Order: sequence, then structure tokens, then C-alpha cells
Amino acid sequence: MNISLSSDFATAVPEMAVSWKAVPVAEPELLAFNEQLAAELGLDPERLRTEGLPLLTGNLAPGVAQAYAGHQFGGYSPRLGDGRALLLGELTGADGRLRDLHLKGSGRTPFARGGDGLAAVGPMLREYVLSEAMHALGIPTTRALAVVSTGHVVQREEPLAGAVLARVAASHLRVGSFQYARNTGDLELLRRLADHAIARHYPGSTYLELFAQVVAAQAALVARWMLVGFIHGVMNTDNMTISGETIDYGPCAFMEAYDPRTKYSSIDEGGRYAYGNQPIIAEWNLARLAEALLPLFADDEDEAVSLAVTTLRTFDAHFEEAWTGGMAAKLGLTGDVQPLLQDLLVLMHENHVDFTSFFHLLGKAARGDAEPARSLFLDLAAIDAWLARWRELEPDAALMDGANPVYVPRNHLVEEALAAGAAGDMGPFDRLLKAVTSPFGERPGLEYFAAPAPQDFSATYRTY
Ligand code: AMP
Ligand code: MG
Ligand code: MG
Repeated sequence: MNISLSSDFATAVPEMAVSWKAVPVAEPELLAFNEQLAAELGLDPERLRTEGLPLLTGNLAPGVAQAYAGHQFGGYSPRLGDGRALLLGELTGADGRLRDLHLKGSGRTPFARGGDGLAAVGPMLREYVLSEAMHALGIPTTRALAVVSTGHVVQREEPLAGAVLARVAASHLRVGSFQYARNTGDLELLRRLADHAIARHYPGSTYLELFAQVVAAQAALVARWMLVGFIHGVMNTDNMTISGETIDYGPCAFMEAYDPRTKYSSIDEGGRYAYGNQPIIAEWNLARLAEALLPLFADDEDEAVSLAVTTLRTFDAHFEEAWTGGMAAKLGLTGDVQPLLQDLLVLMHENHVDFTSFFHLLGKAARGDAEPARSLFLDLAAIDAWLARWRELEPDAALMDGANPVYVPRNHLVEEALAAGAAGDMGPFDRLLKAVTSPFGERPGLEYFAAPAPQDFSATYRTY
């Protein structure tokens, strides 16, 4: 099955695209397939399912490995790039929008360094369910088209079954793409990359407007993550898009008990990418983008710096607007909710209250049944006082229903689904996917997917 792909990225910046072939896959087997997304892309789901495995594993035609740099945990690497991924090309969806079709786990590329270029079934299923859950929550994200198991053995701490993820994105341009271009010293390349990004994402913008729009998009994105308790886990500059989509679902997780210091990633020892640090880190990453773009802002360096700083400072206002507006909706209120919100967050922290459950159950309180939300707290006098203040403001239950998901991919459910999937049983994965891709509104029979993890699970939970 052949589909029509363009090569806009490789044509615009050939210096940053290495033509490359995926590793041959002799025994492809479709583990997960997104029929609805296939249809949105204008592809025939049935043909893709039956004849599309060579395409979905990269075995039909070569793609390109993209070059990029990046700050990882604050340290700069001038050459990262797609070590185990390939851009197959861009395709125009049924809606006329251009998207990247991209593979992860498709074999070593010239950027692989010490890596084997492969991916295991578990982490690829993880990206599939997390990214589709985020999409269903209305949060901009790359999407998962398919996970195909390869029959390859992937050596990690133990031998694991290999897989390739096919994903779709507005583009794979990152902060790190601009850092790479700038680092070459070739300003003409930097300009061409910026022109390509503008044409693709922010048509008609100047270079400074490009930067301003990335700042606005990322500030809103991080606020929306935090409104659902999402912790990205590895906010390196190579994992931050220009489009404003969430990318690279590695050690990410949904927060359980509310605590700004929450982090689950085993590699994030210092908690750099903890839940509450995400806005500051996003702003730090955007400062790195500004540095890369600086020569395009103005000929005079002082003037360029001044424009960059002024623009970067808009981050806080964009973030605050999205965060407080979103939090107001979660509380069923409009207008200024600041003191009420701050007091609630302190109470939730002190009482180790599950973030998703509380806001979901607060919807019941808005309809007169406060007991389920109230019972999450040990300090009943304090939550009763807070609930009384909140009720005075006459919360709108319908507004809350659309802002407070019932079903998010809770860590214990994800682990359970992945373990079963790796052992050949896709049932738990399929059921979890069904729950989290319709996250709003309680549905009968799905209580299991709304319940918090057993206490002993969360205390030691780590992502990789
Ligand atoms: P990440 O932390 O997932 O954003 O990846 C950082 C860098 O490591 C990127 O350049 C990846 O392409 C590369 N990488 C990660 N895993 C592998 C692997 N198994 N083989 C080759 N390269 C990899
Ligand atoms: Mg990455
Ligand atoms: Mg990764």
C-alpha cells in the first residue's frame, strides 16, 4: 500500500535530514491501530490494517533522520538527532492540514551513538495510550497511529519484544532543531529553518512573531498539562516542539496525590522536571530558543536581546491566563478564583488528596452531594470551611463536567495494561484505551478506571 508523502522538511533544510532506511522487519504484527486517526488522515483504515505493515514499519520506502541538538537536564549536546526514529514524510489529511508521519524504534541511524535504535513493546504502547488520552483531553499532542511488534529482541535489563510506533505530528520541529542550526554558524541555514517553521505553523509571521507565538503556545500547553496533573518528565529542549504539541512520551505520568514536587522519572534525580517546576523549565527552554534565533531578530545584538527578553517575559501572563482560567472552570466558577484556589491547593497538599478524583468528585458536590469529595480529606473542618466558601459562589456543575476528567491513564492502570500487552494479552490495554479516550463524564461499569492506585503502589512508582 503506497501513500503520497511530501518531503518538505528534507527539501527546506537538507543539511538537517539524513536519508535513511528502517531496519527490515520480517514478522510484523499489528498490536494497536488507530482507525479513527487513519480516517482523519485520509487513509483507508481497512487497507492500512491489512496491507499497510510495510509502510508502518518503514520497510516500504526510506525516510530521513532529523538532526537536532538539545539541552538535556541543563547540559548542552550539539548533536542528538533521531537515533532511532525516522520521518517518512509529510501527508495532507482529509482536513487539508499537513502532518508528519514518523516512526520510532525503526533501527539505528547515524545519530544513534551507543543506542541500539530499537524500542520495546511496552514503552511504545505507553506512548500510544498516553498521547491518545491527552488528545481526548483536548491537549495539543502528537498522535499514535499504530504499534507494530517486530519479532526483534530488544536487550534492556532483560530481553524484551521489539516494536515500532507510527506517530503523527503537526511537525517534529523542536527548540533543539534551532539550536542545531544556530550551532552550525550558518545563518542562512538558520533563516531557512525559521522560514520553514513559519510557513508550516505561523504563516505570515516575522521571526520575532514566530518566537512570540511559540512562547504563547508553550505557556498554554504547560498550563493545560498541569490542569490535568500531567508531568512530562523529560522537558529537554529537544523534547519541546515549535508547534505547541506535547511530544516524546517517555517517563511521563499523571500525578496522583497533589504535591508540586511530584516526579516519577527514575532519571530525574534532582526533580528538575517535577510537576510544579514545569512552567519555569518551559521558560528556560524558550530562552534557549531565543538565543538560537537571536541573529534573526535584529542586526544589532543589543536590540535583538532586548526584543527577545521583552517577548520572553510574556510567558508568565500567557501561563497565568491559561492556568487560572482553566482552574476557574475546574471549580465551576468564572472570574478571579485566586485566594480560593490557593487555599484549596494547600489543603489538597496537606491531606495528600488525589488530584483527578477530587475535581471529579467536586462536580458531585456542585450537584448537592459533597460527601465523596469531602471524604478524601483528613482535616474535615478545613475542607468543610472551604466548601462553604466555594458554594457561596454558586458553581456551575456543567462547566465542571467539561473541565474535570473522570478517566486519566493512571500509573497503575498503564503498568497493568503494558505488562499484559508485553505478555501477549492486549485486552487490558484496549479497555484502558477505551476509558481514557472518552475521559469526561462517568460511565457505568468503569469504576475501576476512575479509582486511585493502591497506596503502596504510589510510594515506590518510577517511570523510565
Ligand atoms: P529522548 O530522551 O527520548 O528525547 O532521546 C534523546 C536522544 O537519544 C535522541 O537523540 C534519541 O534519538 C536518542 N535515543 C534514545 N533511545 C535510543 C536508542 N534506543 N537508540 C538510539 N538512539 C536513542
Ligand atoms: Mg526526544
Ligand atoms: Mg524518548
